Amino acid sequence: MAEKLFKALHLPRKAPGETNRQRDLNNLPESDEMVFRGKGDFLSIGTASEIDSLLAVSGRIGADPMLVQAATGNTSIKLDDVLWIKASGKWLAHANREEILVPVSLTETIRRVETNTDPAGQTAIVAGKTLGTSVETAMHAVIPHRVVLHVHSVNAIAWAVRSDGEAHLRERLQGLVWKWIPYLPSGLPLASAIRTAVKAQPEIQVFILANHGIVICGDTPLGTEALLREVETRIAIAPRTVPEPAWDDLNAIAERIGWRVPANPAVHALGMDPICRKMLAGGTLYPCQAIFLAPRVPMVSQFVSPSDAAEIDSAYVLVENRGTLLRQRQNPVEGLTLAGLAQVVLRLPEDAPIAYLAQKDVNDLLCADVYHYRERVEDNGADRLPFHNQPSGEPTVELR
Ligand SMILES: [Zn+2]
Repeated sequence: MAEKLFKALHLPRKAPGETNRQRDLNNLPESDEMVFRGKGDFLSIGTASEIDSLLAVSGRIGADPMLVQAATGNTSIKLDDVLWIKASGKWLAHANREEILVPVSLTETIRRVETNTDPAGQTAIVAGKTLGTSVETAMHAVIPHRVVLHVHSVNAIAWAVRSDGEAHLRERLQGLVWKWIPYLPSGLPLASAIRTAVKAQPEIQVFILANHGIVICGDTPLGTEALLREVETRIAIAPRTVPEPAWDDLNAIAERIGWRVPANPAVHALGMDPICRKMLAGGTLYPCQAIFLAPRVPMVSQFVSPSDAAEIDSAYVLVENRGTLLRQRQNPVEGLTLAGLAQVVLRLPEDAPIAYLAQKDVNDLLCADVYHYRERVEDNGADRLPFHNQPSGEPTVELR
């Protein structure tokens, strides 16, 4: 797979049919001095095997809904002066069956960060398709470690949305070199905070990103994955147990208002558990909640009428003490994001002090090019879920 990537990329002179725009967007040097390890037509065996190893790790963590939901999360490796980073909108879970990495010049990517230009969206032609670099490219580039794994771990987020999260993690992460990064939007603002942190302490291997997720850094893909697993064990939180949803009532309500009953039991905790409802009523916990679901959580009683339901502008609705309903239209991305959200709030105790996103941050998220990003994520996921798909189109993803 890595060999194929390199062949597709290795275009020292303008290829037949290649436009100037493609050439401009691809930041790699235009001369044929493009020196990869081995300086040949193919990646060296060492480089190819490291990329394959990163792809194997990406596929494994991407298929774990406790770490990655839909297209969230991204991985990268720096080999010589090339940053191989996950393409925007691609799913880590698909790493073993389609090209998800974009190779770009590391020097040029860092130069862009230093001149306050976001390096996200740099493109390269990979296997005949133009792929753009992830929104988190700047963050990956400024970290000195060769391998960077960034995931939206349910356990990490359950700490990262708490104003006392850093204090709690101090004991759990004792002995590791780690840093809490206050919430900043993805892209240059977040990368700038990470850059400041690594300049002061280059050996940091674990970043907890407030209201966002976790970043793990290392020298090899397997070693970095092992560190991620260790951190996950240390920060694990047991979820609250919640009563089964009132299936009969819920089915009757769904039929009356024309919505559907999701199969995943965890999702129903949102409607069944008063603590979950209270946590969600307070505001938006993290960006994916606002981008893929809705910034505000709609809640109704079991007596909701079809006309009231028609007014709900959301992918889902909580029915108080009955469960959770989804819209009829099938959208696996919403289902996975909602399941992740349920797992996070099930790990927040009632007395946990929550640091919700500021309204301005939520507004900024929704002002960005969210519509096209959502579309790309949904297109990439359509019919290619890493999980067994039910006839309903809803992934039967078993969350622990
Ligand atoms: Zn992220």
